[in-house]
Amino acid sequence: MKLYNIKENDEQVSFGQAVRQGLGRNQGLFFPQELPKFDDIDALLAEDFVSRSTKILSAMIGDELAEEQVNSMVDAAFQFPAPINKVKDGVYALELFHGPTLAFKDFGGRFMAQSLAAVSDGGKITILTATSGDTGAAVAHAFYGMEDINVVILYPKGKISPLQEKLFCTLGKNIHTVAIDGDFDACQALVKQAFDDAALREEIGLNSANSINISRLMAQICYYFEAASQLSKQERENLVVSVPSGNFGNLTAGLLAKALGLPVKRFIAATNENDTVPRYLETGQWDPKPTVATTSNAMDVSQPNNWPRIEELCQLKEWGLDTLGKGKVSDEQSAESVRDLKAQGYLCEPHGAIAYRLLDEQLQEGETGLFLCTAHPAKFKEVVDEILGSDIDLPAPLAKHAAMELLSEDLANDFDLLKEVLRRVQK
Ligand SMILES: *Cc1c(COP(=O)(O)O)cnc(C)c1O
Repeated sequence: MKLYNIKENDEQVSFGQAVRQGLGRNQGLFFPQELPKFDDIDALLAEDFVSRSTKILSAMIGDELAEEQVNSMVDAAFQFPAPINKVKDGVYALELFHGPTLAFKDFGGRFMAQSLAAVSDGGKITILTATSGDTGAAVAHAFYGMEDINVVILYPKGKISPLQEKLFCTLGKNIHTVAIDGDFDACQALVKQAFDDAALREEIGLNSANSINISRLMAQICYYFEAASQLSKQERENLVVSVPSGNFGNLTAGLLAKALGLPVKRFIAATNENDTVPRYLETGQWDPKPTVATTSNAMDVSQPNNWPRIEELCQLKEWGLDTLGKGKVSDEQSAESVRDLKAQGYLCEPHGAIAYRLLDEQLQEGETGLFLCTAHPAKFKEVVDEILGSDIDLPAPLAKHAAMELLSEDLANDFDLLKEVLRRVQK
C-alpha cells in the first residue's frame, strides 16, 4: 500500500510508515494512492464479518502484509458485533457500541493496536494521547498488556465524567493515566509540545493513536459493509447513511467504503451546534467558530481534522460536495429526538439521536435509512437519564470498572514534569 501526503504530494509512504508516523510533513494527512474496487459486492456481503473485513483490508494493504496475518489482526480486533436494529419501517440503527469501551472507537483503536504491533521495527513505542473521554478509553483497552508499547493518556482533571474516568484509569500495567490540572486544550498542547521535541520523540518512540491514523479509518470502512450485509438487496439499493460527526473520521470511512464499491446513495454529515462543515457546504466559506459545549460532547469540534481527506476523495471520484446531505441539531432538538426514539421503543443517546433526526427529516420515498449509533446510551447516562427521567442500567464493562480503584496520577500543566513521567514509564 502506498500513501501520499495530501499537503506535500512528494512525500510517499508505505502502510507501515503511515501507521508508525501518523501524520506527514507540514501536518499533512496521508491518503491512499490507489483504492481497490470490489465488483461482486453481493458475494462480498455474503461473507461473515471477519472474512469480509480481511478481504477489504488485505486488498487495501496489498503485499506488505500476508492475508493470513491481516486475518489474525482482524480476528483479534473485531471480537464484537455491529448489528443493525430496525427502529421503524425503512429506518435502521447501526449499533457500533458493543465493544469493550462501548463506543465505535473500539473498532479503530483495536485495529490500530494490531497494525502497530505488525509493522513495528522492534523499537520501543510510547503512545501519547490527550482525551476528552472516549478515545482514551478505546486506546487504553486496545493497547492494554501489549509488549514493548507504553501508553500515556492525558485528560483534564475533573472535566470528564466519573464513569468515563473509571473506564480507562483503572487498568494499570502498560497504561499510564495522568490527570492534568487544566482543560482539554491544555492536554492537547502538552501532546503537541512532546511531538515538537525531536530528541524526545526519538528517545521514546512517540506515536499518537489519534483519529488521523490511517489504520483507524481503514477499520471503520468494514462496519459500513457489515451494516449493508444485514439489509435485503432491495433495501440496500437506495441506502442513505447519516453520520454523527466531530472530527469526521467516521464519515471519511463511509465515503471510502463507497469508493470501494459499497452502494450508498447518499451520506448525511450530521453535526451539533459546532457546524463548521454544514455551513461550509451551504456557503463555500470555511469559517470555524469557537467550539461550544453540547450534550453530544464527543462531537464538540469546530476544526475537524479529517475534512481534507473528504475533499480529496470527493475530488478524485468527482463526487460533488453538493451531493452530501448535511445539517446541525441543537441540544433541545436532540433531546426531543431521544424522546421520540424512546417512544418508538429504541433507547438512544444524543450523538445517535442527532444522526437519526436529520435522516428522518431528509429521507425520501423509496429510500432506506441507516443512522450510526456511536456510543452506548449508558456511556452518557447523566444526559440520557435527565432527558428521559429514567435510571438506565450500566452494562457489565461499565459496572465492573466503576467498582475499581483509580490509578491516575495528578500533574501540573507543565511540560518538564510530563517529560519526567514519559521517561519514568519506560523503565
Ligand atoms: C468520536 C465520536 C464521534 C465523532 O466521530 P468522528 O469520527 O470524530 O466524526 C461521535 N460520537 C461519539 C460517541 C464519539 O465518541
